Amino acid sequence: SEIQSIVDARSQFPNLNRQDHRDNRIIYLDNAATTHKPQLVIDSLVNHFSNQNANIHRGIHTLAIEATSHYEESRRKVQQFINAREESEVIFTSGTTAGVNLVAQTFAQQQIRPGDEILISILEHHSNLLPWQQLAAQKGAKLKVIPITACGELDMPSLERMLTSRVKILALTHISNSLGTINPIRDIIKMARSQGTYVLIDAAQSVGSYPIDVQDLDCDFLVFSGHKMYGPTGIGVLYGKAELLQAMPPWQFGGEMIRSVQIEKTVFAAPPHKFEAGTPPIAQAIALGAAIDFIGQVGLEHIQAQNQALLAYGTELLAEIPGLQLVGKARHKSAIISFMLEDIHPHDLATILNQAGVAVRAGHHCTQPLMESLGLPGTVRASMAFYNTYEDIDQLKQGLLLAKKIFT
Ligand code: PMP
Repeated sequence: SEIQSIVDARSQFPNLNRQDHRDNRIIYLDNAATTHKPQLVIDSLVNHFSNQNANIHRGIHTLAIEATSHYEESRRKVQQFINAREESEVIFTSGTTAGVNLVAQTFAQQQIRPGDEILISILEHHSNLLPWQQLAAQKGAKLKVIPITACGELDMPSLERMLTSRVKILALTHISNSLGTINPIRDIIKMARSQGTYVLIDAAQSVGSYPIDVQDLDCDFLVFSGHKMYGPTGIGVLYGKAELLQAMPPWQFGGEMIRSVQIEKTVFAAPPHKFEAGTPPIAQAIALGAAIDFIGQVGLEHIQAQNQALLAYGTELLAEIPGLQLVGKARHKSAIISFMLEDIHPHDLATILNQAGVAVRAGHHCTQPLMESLGLPGTVRASMAFYNTYEDIDQLKQGLLLAKKIFT
């Protein structure tokens, strides 16, 4: 591989050189929202439109054959990356949100009966909450919510009490996008299995930063987005166990997902095609494969180590600021630091930081019930990727000290 070090890897991201209108280099600490894209991924997108740009699976001309082969090769890369047993267990979707909705509207639509329970946690992103809330209302099922402890970890005694055989589905995030908490999903999946509960894991914040092995986890479904792992927007993955996908009805109906169609009846194709109706985001799917290649070149173990080093440095540095309150102090955390500074509103703080060239997120981070349970209007969230530096975090601290001066 041509990438020898983190410094080499960092140089692959053109957007890390962006400047704002004050000629500040923009320090990007909003990686939990979306990551920047390396040149390999950008080139892959351009290459598709420049050299293939054909629809897939239906053509018998050279361009269509090439595009189809690249698209299916990308599926194999995803399969290997998450260690799925079969290629057909990898369904391309438009993202995490689409993956959760697909499972809720097909598998869960069939499984859930009135009075059944659906279990989620208070940490969930709205996209792993609303689909279940809607389904529970449609079916007369109960939506139950695992609380967290004061430090932002799942309350395990509550979880054990709530995870009974009445729970048909447990839909749980691996990593909280608001607090950075890493949940012990492997143990929890084991507990769910022993109750006959199906498990969907929201891995939007983990794939690409932490190793994911779906066979080792033994989850039934796992969803993630390409754009949070250095890939493009518009593409994501639903992993599902083969036997479940075979039994599930399709979600959307149209071209590409059929074996034969007559006006009276249709025979659907086998997975994964049964779940990929219509023309998919072809270039994005192929570029997701390039993102996986890139991660392989850098090394997931290096990415993970760098994230943990940045988290440790940032946590210590920010704690030195008088009046700064860290929100979420789980023992196992990803490189996400959520905080409040005195009583400065998160949006005001983010505005001052932006003027200092530091890009962070402020608000509820699509986790309103979590913020309400914490009694906060929102937080400021600095989220690091492996390509951030200690100097980036120093700049964040300088920006916060400036904000403190302005507001107090
Ligand atoms: N779940 C988590 C934990 C997330 O961080 C996000 C993105 N912020 C989502 C789900 C939704 O992902 P997408 O918007 O790409 O569908």
